[in-house]
Amino acid sequence: MFDNLSDKLDKALHILKGHGQITEVNVAETLKEVRRALVDADVNYKIAKDFTARVREKALGQDVLKSLKPGQLMVKLVKDELTELMGGDAVGIDTSGNPSVILMSGLQGSGKTTFSGKLANYLKDKKKKKPLLVACDVYRPAAVDQLHVVGDQINVEVFSDKGNTNPVAIAKAGIAYAKANDFDTVIVDTAGRLAIDEMMMTEIANIHKTIQPNETLFVVDAMTGQDAVNTAKAFNEVLNFDGVILTKLDGDTRGGAAISIKSVVNKPIKFVGMGEKMDALDVFYPSRMADRILG
Ligand code: GDP
Repeated sequence: MFDNLSDKLDKALHILKGHGQITEVNVAETLKEVRRALVDADVNYKIAKDFTARVREKALGQDVLKSLKPGQLMVKLVKDELTELMGGDAVGIDTSGNPSVILMSGLQGSGKTTFSGKLANYLKDKKKKKPLLVACDVYRPAAVDQLHVVGDQINVEVFSDKGNTNPVAIAKAGIAYAKANDFDTVIVDTAGRLAIDEMMMTEIANIHKTIQPNETLFVVDAMTGQDAVNTAKAFNEVLNFDGVILTKLDGDTRGGAAISIKSVVNKPIKFVGMGEKMDALDVFYPSRMADRILG
């Protein structure tokens, strides 16, 4: 994961490790390479610039120049700052409602349906919950069938109403069904378009307003780099969502979305998708991710 970024950061930080004498010049050179590595990984230039400015300030404050092991100290400072940038502590999801309603949002193909299944499976197996999946894609019957296939795989019931063309009504009926049948968690999977359009935004905003979910999650494909960040911004303006799900992190992604999405929308990444299988789901821990990036 993020091999290219890890390589480049390693090389950048080696500039200091190799030097017997540390000067302000080679600290600056190191940070310039760190910035370049971040930009190459699809981190927005301003975010990368602010990042290295903060590391520089801390480095000078902690007197990297006089430290015995300046290389190691710089690695630690970069790691801490990366952790902070990605959100600091891990943030769980709110399952305190009765039932707790979790709404999925995002573009078509981002991995909403797959993640809905993974989350249901996780809540059932790891948190001993009784989840219900609700299929609200009224445009693509295949999407409803897909959710049923997922539900069968993980042994979780799926609520759908194929003839119904009103997603708000389906979501409400699904929640009522959950209440009547002792489900403690309702995961509402919604339709997505290939690009942001007004109709889709209005529809998801209406569902959101009506069902008032405990948790609104924005699902995004990590492979889409800076587009992922821009899409997150657009959805956040409409939904003020609670957290981000970054999918397809098992693919050949450069890392920009994972690193910068939190600082752009000020919402935490809660889970990452690591594959197509139902158990390919990880809680997102910023510090572990920073460790992996820096090797
Ligand atoms: P939706 O349109 O947002 O509901 O997206 P889907 O759940 O149908 O996912 C679109 C495609 O991405 C499917 O082929 C999924 O198998 C695949 N997919 C979803 N999540 C992941 C992931 O974490 N890793 C990989 N490699 N593929 C994924």
